[in-house]
Amino acid sequence: MFETDAAQEAQLFHIPDPEEASYRVAGGTSKLTDVLAQHIGHDRIILGSPLLSVSEQKDHLEITTSKGVKHACRHLVLTMPPFLILSQKITFDPALPGELVRVMGSTHTWMGESIKFAVEYESPFWRQQGYSGTVFSHAGIAVEVYDHSDFEETRFALKGFLSADASALTKEERKLKVVGQLTRLLGERAADILSYTERVWKEEVYTSADYQKYVMPHQHNGHPLYSSPLMNGRLYLAGTETSPAFGGYMDGAVHSGIATAHRLANKTGEA
Ligand SMILES: Cc1cc2nc3c(=O)[nH]c(=O)nc-3n(C[C@H](O)[C@H](O)[C@H](O)COP(=O)(O)OP(=O)(O)OC[C@H]3O[C@@H](n4cnc5c(N)ncnc54)[C@H](O)[C@@H]3O)c2cc1C
Repeated sequence: MFETDAAQEAQLFHIPDPEEASYRVAGGTSKLTDVLAQHIGHDRIILGSPLLSVSEQKDHLEITTSKGVKHACRHLVLTMPPFLILSQKITFDPALPGELVRVMGSTHTWMGESIKFAVEYESPFWRQQGYSGTVFSHAGIAVEVYDHSDFEETRFALKGFLSADASALTKEERKLKVVGQLTRLLGERAADILSYTERVWKEEVYTSADYQKYVMPHQHNGHPLYSSPLMNGRLYLAGTETSPAFGGYMDGAVHSGIATAHRLANKTGEA
């Protein structure tokens, strides 16, 4: 559906097959990190300890966390969004190269400003009406909507993104507007919701930070400077923004993880 004006009926479009296949992750996307954590071992993962500083020592790097704990690292792979490394004022001794810092300061964190919502329903009633659940709107608070049902087809939802000005509203106001828009588009059954969930991502300080100037989305993704090891080959910058392939997206994070693992394996001679 494409909605240009709330006073006019939405236009219907047939969506052509995409060039790139899309997949649902069985168990939800958090399954990816759950399985990785299982492989690594939960006892080897330290949560709730943001990094504060990195300093190069003779034969290792020393990092300090917000709890004042120090760790010695043979290698350090930093996968935070590059802009956050600067906005959180993480200190590096010696300092990172000036040109790299300039690039990091204008590397966008994909979707970091967005508000994402999900509305859960008893059944995927939109499919029964012949709709995919995809909506693009210039008229309502929800500017994009997609079918968000799980791979197992046991839970059904529509999810999407809200317009930037929606952060000025309360959660309750946003919920009313979202459900009102979905009801206008998909009929009365859209009002019968099981739950409304949302996340204002710009409030998530470990994902997003305010830019002082306009930073273009995807700008500098996969910049060559991100692929050069730092601090005598002990520090690697990784994460989706550093990936030349699918930078900003989940696929980019996977590409960057694999590329960095190869770089480290080549250096250490380990498989
Ligand atoms: C609202 C929204 C919608 C999105 N939709 C899509 C989509 O539909 N498809 C898609 O492919 N991608 C989407 N993305 C992008 C996707 O989430 C990212 O590409 C992916 O999460 C990047 O993975 P990453 O591991 O590189 O970084 P992140 O997932 O950002 O992980 C970085 C980690 O660093 C941690 N961290 C931050 N600061 C510190 C610190 N000081 N010390 C220690 N740890 C720290 C954070 O807590 C976080 O766990 C979306 C992003 C957002 C915000």
